[in-house]
Amino acid sequence: MGQILEIKCQACSANQNIFEGGGWEFSITKLYHCPSCYWIRDKTFKDDNNPFNANHKKNAPKIEDLLRVPVECEKCKTNKIKSIMNEIQESDLETLKCHQCKQKKLKTTIIGHWD
Ligand SMILES: [Zn+2]
Ligand SMILES: [Zn+2]
Repeated sequence: MGQILEIKCQACSANQNIFEGGGWEFSITKLYHCPSCYWIRDKTFKDDNNPFNANHKKNAPKIEDLLRVPVECEKCKTNKIKSIMNEIQESDLETLKCHQCKQKKLKTTIIGHWD
């Protein structure tokens, strides 16, 4: 089971919800941070290659391979900048800069659970 986190900036009005940890079986959710624009996102990888998975697909890529693919920032992409996001931990969130005002004033609150 994972948590739904609200990341709120104490200095401006920026806020976003992300899904952290756990997730349903045969999937992994990771957090990413853009070093260029400070955007934070979650990304879920599904292990459809696992034979124990009910949605098992024979030709699905292996989860190890999926996790190795660099995650590109979609915000930077719209400005035609190629930026590879860094994997972060939940405990890193409050040490990051706000993508809007660039201040280190982020506060995370657990607002729910998901599974
Ligand atoms: Zn970016
Ligand atoms: Zn802010």
